[in-house]
Amino acid sequence: MTPLLSHQPCSVDAPNDLLLFPSQCRHHKLPAMPAPTCSSCHAARAALRRPRSGQALCGSCFCAAFEAEVLHTVLAGRLLPPGAVVAVGASGGKDSTVLAHVLRELTPRLGITLHLVAVDEGIGGYRDAALEAVSSQAARWELPLTIVAYADLFGGWTMDAVARSTAGSGRSRSCCTFCGVLRRRALEEGARLVGATHIVTGHNADDMAETVLMNFLRGDTGRLARGGVLGSGGEGCALPRCRPLQFASQKEVVLYAHFRRLRYFSEECVYAPEAFRGHARDLLKQLEAARPSTVLDLVHSAERLALAPAARPPPPGTCSRCGALASHTLCQACALLDGLNRGLPRLAIGKGRRVLQAQPPLPGNRSQATSDPVAPQGPCTCEQSRDGVTLCRDGGGQAGATCALQSDLSATE
Ligand code: SF4
Repeated sequence: MTPLLSHQPCSVDAPNDLLLFPSQCRHHKLPAMPAPTCSSCHAARAALRRPRSGQALCGSCFCAAFEAEVLHTVLAGRLLPPGAVVAVGASGGKDSTVLAHVLRELTPRLGITLHLVAVDEGIGGYRDAALEAVSSQAARWELPLTIVAYADLFGGWTMDAVARSTAGSGRSRSCCTFCGVLRRRALEEGARLVGATHIVTGHNADDMAETVLMNFLRGDTGRLARGGVLGSGGEGCALPRCRPLQFASQKEVVLYAHFRRLRYFSEECVYAPEAFRGHARDLLKQLEAARPSTVLDLVHSAERLALAPAARPPPPGTCSRCGALASHTLCQACALLDGLNRGLPRLAIGKGRRVLQAQPPLPGNRSQATSDPVAPQGPCTCEQSRDGVTLCRDGGGQAGATCALQSDLSATE
């Protein structure tokens, strides 16, 4: 076996392999070349080479540089003014864990108050464990924690119930579409509950690049135009929200957690494999292998994107049902919940939404946080012509009932 003469490991299949200077090659078990001296403190041995700058840094200098960059992002973008009460969207995962820790370190400099807000989507076998991680983080860091649940906010709907409902129409892969919209609403409600003036989320540069790529692939110009913005100023009645880690790569987020010895929950959601985002992530990895700057290039390209006047979405109005910002009669959350309550989840996404919005609201609609739970009812969830409008010949039955046509469609999707 050929001895490894470089300090680089022989495998690059994980971020740490790319960035850390190991003491020995983990495959050949031979001593690697000594790491260079940290280019910042010139005292300690370097532990990693930063992907963007190529700088060789020790763990402490890297963490200090990472925190300084987040501070710069917040100050330069005027994201969190002194005195702000900041609701940190906490999921127990690496991004929100790192975000909460960094902001806690920066609290004296920024003059802000932090409050963790976690959302319980009602995903059996996944979210319970993640919420335990958030609770232990809150206790360790002595930060207040509030948990808001879909079931309480949305009249009994949990993500597991949504998944069952959408799977009934052969669209189980749309779970994340529902969850993303409802989670945004739930975080807003939780932030208001704790008296927050601002919301921060842990989206990193890789998340942002995936979103930009997905919007390109879907031709969603409205979202593309919003995709590069660091944060929203709180249009309408919405609270201002921002993403202080937007320019931090996922690899560096993982490394920061590693050097600060942060414990986080790293299981994948049970519905994640169905998500379209997974395809964008795979594509991004391939692009990054060919061009390492792809992630930040995509984030910056969205920032610089200018839409022709004809392609610009109309200025948002307010939802006729809940008063939230909306570009149609109903906001996304109310439209999705309305579709679920009618037993027509498919009508709530894509072009079917227009049809749904033209219909009168259901009595006892569950799209508002204060409404009472009602049993799902409505016609069969399939559409004979598959145009999202025409009901099948068996329409009129209870939601979730499977007609013969439904079975055929499910088999082919
Ligand atoms: Fe929700 Fe999808 Fe994330 Fe699961 S993977 S928590 S369903 S957005």
